Amino acid sequence: MTLSCFDLGERMLSVAEAQRHLAGLVGEPLAIEACPLAELSGRVLAEAVHSPIDVPQNTNAAMDGIALAWPQPVAALALVGRVLAGGRFDRPLAAGEAVTITTGAPLPKGADTVIMQEQLAFPGAGQVQVSRPETVRRGQHVRRAGEDVARGSLALAAGTRLGAAQLGLLASLGLTGARVHRRPRVAIFSSGDEVTAPGAPLSAAGIYDANRYSLRGLLQALGCRVIDLGILPDDRETIIGALRQAAQDADMVITSGGVSVGQADWIKAALAEVGELGFWRIAMRPGRPLACGWLGEGRTPFFGLPGNPVAVMVTFLQFVQPVLRRLMGQPEWQPRRLTALAAEPLASRVGRVDYLRGTYHSDREGRLWVRPTGRQGSGILTSMVLADCLIEVDADRQGVAEGEPVTLQLLNDFS
Ligand code: AMP
Ligand code: MG
Repeated sequence: MTLSCFDLGERMLSVAEAQRHLAGLVGEPLAIEACPLAELSGRVLAEAVHSPIDVPQNTNAAMDGIALAWPQPVAALALVGRVLAGGRFDRPLAAGEAVTITTGAPLPKGADTVIMQEQLAFPGAGQVQVSRPETVRRGQHVRRAGEDVARGSLALAAGTRLGAAQLGLLASLGLTGARVHRRPRVAIFSSGDEVTAPGAPLSAAGIYDANRYSLRGLLQALGCRVIDLGILPDDRETIIGALRQAAQDADMVITSGGVSVGQADWIKAALAEVGELGFWRIAMRPGRPLACGWLGEGRTPFFGLPGNPVAVMVTFLQFVQPVLRRLMGQPEWQPRRLTALAAEPLASRVGRVDYLRGTYHSDREGRLWVRPTGRQGSGILTSMVLADCLIEVDADRQGVAEGEPVTLQLLNDFS
């Protein structure tokens, strides 16, 4: 496999081109391992799950009431027993017979219909009367065996990320675990002499290290293990050593800062020594510079993200996330996109994709609207804090007028 990014030189790449080239960064997903049910949250299925049983197992009552075979002579139903959830009625019902039944209890053989408690009267022992019998439909208030998941059918496809509903479904099949891809170990570090760890005193020209913590948040939301390598000092040998070690320990290495044109070259030089890198300029805002490639003999994928905190998050979501998802067994993953109307004019420039931070809402007519969250500089992290979506304005658009449609990507959507 060759990574064409090395040949792309200084040409400006479109977002789509960059994403296409990045698909070659990772061949296979990470190894498969068995994982117990209680630890599956956020993991990605490596194999499809087919159901070993019918869910529900039995055709059962969806309400409390009586079970019977319908149609029946209403006035003369004989009440011949009762079935509670967890129990069974051990003989078939004959015509004219009914049993009282509670929600979830299996229907006796011969029964096909449940009439709810509110429609019933019990005039004497062994008798039941139905009011408004014309409202009863055959098969009502019954859950059919296998109606949720039929035995042998596909319950969850390979590549499914396991959230609350999927975990419940696996449990409802009686499974005690699943085969999933190993969680990626991702090494992160920051760079820059001005970058200061929270807790340390801030020098006159210093700035606190935001990026390692927003990266940590993004990685953890995706289900990765984070190896935090701190802030790399401006020392070539130290950096080379740290990169070599990270490439051995991690499935991916991510840095922020130090990759734009005209930077002090120390990080580039160190990277070139440890790996095979391309330095890209991508036609987008924020986030134009991006380095990517492989580190070390094991060819660990590497990303050098820009330094600005908003650019870090935007480039992570657009470029790093799809590669991580490939490692995790979701090769076809794409961000979920919606179309909304601009609630106010949006600034954007022809020739680059603008990612504005926005909030969306719907109006009474069911139309979706989006507006930007204030100032949009790539260092304005509060614009990201306030946002619930990225507004993706295509490269062919020179601004967006109020009321025109635009594309949204939902933030915090790690399903
Ligand atoms: P650079 O790409 O290194 O020129 O960085 C661009 C801008 O991002 C500069 O203003 C840096 O101070 C800032 N920056 C770089 N790394 C971080 C970081 N880890 N946290 C916050 N800001 C950063
Ligand atoms: Mg810098």
